[in-house]
Amino acid sequence: MKDNIKSARRRMLKLGGAALAMIPVMALSGRTYAATNAAMRASFKYQDKPAGDKACRGCVQFVPGKTAKALGGCKIYPGDTEISPNGYCTAWVAAPKK
Ligand code: SF4
Repeated sequence: MKDNIKSARRRMLKLGGAALAMIPVMALSGRTYAATNAAMRASFKYQDKPAGDKACRGCVQFVPGKTAKALGGCKIYPGDTEISPNGYCTAWVAAPKK
């Protein structure tokens, strides 16, 4: 019984150590991991191309990426970081003119 507890504790320490060791690797790599929100994309029929002159870059919900051509986000698609400025969905609403 004691051996089982010691063995389980040893495994937990190893896993915890491995997890801790990965933190600086992930932090130094400077990479952010892209994600999509498949459920929201399906609900609003998201597509990676514009619909006529309607594109995400002209939508009030669009959150631009680092550059004008970079992928960005959408205020109504939680966690989605792969929204194309040239994309479109049925929730499109014109952004106010600047
Ligand atoms: Fe693009 Fe639709 Fe989001 Fe507007 S609501 S930015 S069209 S994904």
